[in-house]
Amino acid sequence: MRKQYDNGTVAVHELSLVVETGTITVFVGPSGCGKTTLMRMVNRMIDPSSGTVLVNGTDVRESDPARLRRGIGYVIQQAGLFPHRTVLDNVATVPLLFGQRRREARSRAGELLELVGLPSELGKRYPAQLSGGQQQRVGVARALAADPPVLLMDEPFSAVDPVVREGLQDELLRLQAELDKTVLFVTHDIDEAIKLGEKVAVLRQGGHLAQYAEPDDLLAE
Ligand code: ADP
Ligand code: ADP
Repeated sequence: MRKQYDNGTVAVHELSLVVETGTITVFVGPSGCGKTTLMRMVNRMIDPSSGTVLVNGTDVRESDPARLRRGIGYVIQQAGLFPHRTVLDNVATVPLLFGQRRREARSRAGELLELVGLPSELGKRYPAQLSGGQQQRVGVARALAADPPVLLMDEPFSAVDPVVREGLQDELLRLQAELDKTVLFVTHDIDEAIKLGEKVAVLRQGGHLAQYAEPDDLLAE
């Protein structure tokens, strides 16, 4: 596929790649190499200029957008939590939207907070009362709330300090072993890519795919 924005910028250049289900695939490269554009084409926030994106064998353009996004969790750098809702309600919003009763939704939200390693008493706080790392965990819990088979994670841990980031990475690996999601993870940090990726796609400026390999087989650049 290819993506050229209206102003002429080619963000993704003739890229063709298959991601295996149930694995973590990391997209790594410098700022501006098209990583975010790629993620946005997967959940149809934008469409490619040419080519197709298939999720589970179906062209995303033939899927109903709401249904598609229900199957794809999205976690971004700033967790994007609702500031005026408690942490628990931030997570419970998703099951509520899918028609669960308030009590069930809250109980499910509590389980999800526990799953991402947050103590339940933090559920009563507001996002601003949590550390950056804790907010990212809430973002992950909210993305998991719809139980999507696919998770897009766009620099989810970049805004937190290195020690906290390592903890979040370990947690993601633990979660992945448990949940078996198909994770597309974006980072500009090659060490993070090597630690997390079962496959690593190295992108270059102009949206070129330079390498696509298991971490042990990556060539030094
Ligand atoms: P990354 O996530 O790797 O930082 P992006 O996908 O955000 O890269 O951007 C890739 C390129 O496309 C950059 O040159 C960026 O400036 C450009 N770009 C991103 N979004 C738009 C847009 N909406 N309109 C025009 N150019 C864009
Ligand atoms: P990110 O933190 O994901 O790299 P950016 O700061 O690159 O995000 O982009 C923020 C917003 O601005 C996005 O909606 C992106 O599509 C848009 N954008 C990025 N680069 C450009 C550009 N060169 N021209 C127009 N819009 C852009």
